Amino acid sequence: MKAIVKTKEGQGFVEFKDWPEPVPEPDEVKLKVSHAGVCGTDIHIIKGEWPCRPPVVLGHEFCGTAVEVGAQVRSFKPGDRIVASNPARTCGNCLNCRAGNPFMCSRRISAGYMIDGAFAEYISIRAERCHRLPDNVSFRQASLGEPLSVAVHAVMERSTVHAGDLVLVSGPGCVGILTMLVAKMEGAKVLVVGTAKDQLRLACAKSLGADVVVDASKEDPLEIVRQQSQGEGADVVYECAGVVPSLDKCWEAVRRGGTLVPVGIYPGKIDTDFNKVTMKELQVSGSFGYVWTSWQRCIRLLSDGKVKTEALISHELPLDRFEDAFRWSQDGSAIKVVLNPMMA
Ligand SMILES: [Zn+2]
Ligand SMILES: [Zn+2]
Repeated sequence: MKAIVKTKEGQGFVEFKDWPEPVPEPDEVKLKVSHAGVCGTDIHIIKGEWPCRPPVVLGHEFCGTAVEVGAQVRSFKPGDRIVASNPARTCGNCLNCRAGNPFMCSRRISAGYMIDGAFAEYISIRAERCHRLPDNVSFRQASLGEPLSVAVHAVMERSTVHAGDLVLVSGPGCVGILTMLVAKMEGAKVLVVGTAKDQLRLACAKSLGADVVVDASKEDPLEIVRQQSQGEGADVVYECAGVVPSLDKCWEAVRRGGTLVPVGIYPGKIDTDFNKVTMKELQVSGSFGYVWTSWQRCIRLLSDGKVKTEALISHELPLDRFEDAFRWSQDGSAIKVVLNPMMA
């Protein structure tokens, strides 16, 4: 089959090439990939800024149709429409595995950078990580299930947002926009902050219902937060950009006694004013990945039509257009690029 493969560690080394078709293990389902989303993490992997085990097929946000199931799989059969999640493998024995939080397993192995992912015609994934798609959820909608689950986890499971709260989302990428949508459903007033290169994404956030969008290169987001909160600051702040200037603004924007949720991931150790946590008595609640319930909520939201993830897809491309896909994903000319291996 054809696949997009990271062939070596370091910057670059990404090729579209022939790759062996996966054979499902007894506990796995083999999927014919329908759609797979390009994510910020893929860009970090391509630049050599994220740990990976090359040679490895990239792509960790995906959905497709089951074509074969392993001997132990009882819950799925060929023909089932499936959206799947990470981590691909966990130890199954540690406190976090037993408590139902596989992303916190120190021995987790993720598809798309540690073992083969979904930028390919086929992928095999453990049945435990598969979720059946309701008939009324298209593969295009489901291809954003992974970032929607990340947003659900951050807003509903790692923090509390009430009607009447002022929420700030810093970083209008796919996860940032979906975080805004989930916080809106919880009843908050939501400000989304981006930079000069985020024009398309800020316009998308606005069209999908963000109360205020701010281009920080033109307006001071802190001034707008003050205006919207009688000078107090935002009740809950989601840092979805993973860059220090954004985090620095978040410390300022959150109210005393408020909550800051780091969702973005920084390229390494950072220099920031951690005294803000103490002196503003902040709750800092990290959010990484998702748990089973995040997916359950995600799929219901999609099935009930409460979140229309398709609105975020700016490009759908065949696998061999991967260079365009990766370039547009980082230069601000795309909101979400999804790859479709069935497209010629
Ligand atoms: Zn991702
Ligand atoms: Zn474990």
